[in-house]
Amino acid sequence: MSIERDGRRFLLICDECGEQHVELDFSEAVEFKRERKNGWRAVKDKATGVWADLCPDCAAGAAAHMEGFDD
Ligand SMILES: [Zn+2]
Repeated sequence: MSIERDGRRFLLICDECGEQHVELDFSEAVEFKRERKNGWRAVKDKATGVWADLCPDCAAGAAAHMEGFDD
């Protein structure tokens, strides 16, 4: 997922729907991604080879056209 800074906060952003999850600090944001908390997933589009980070809702619907789940 994208991690963007907004003042003192860091936002995790789904590459599919743009949903934002606000984290308190950068280390928590990184941990959120690394641990794939709450169903967030990193996937690779089969057609483009581009990696995307998806929120739980998008990850659930991505299996048909995505591959490369990072576990
Ligand atoms: Zn999403």
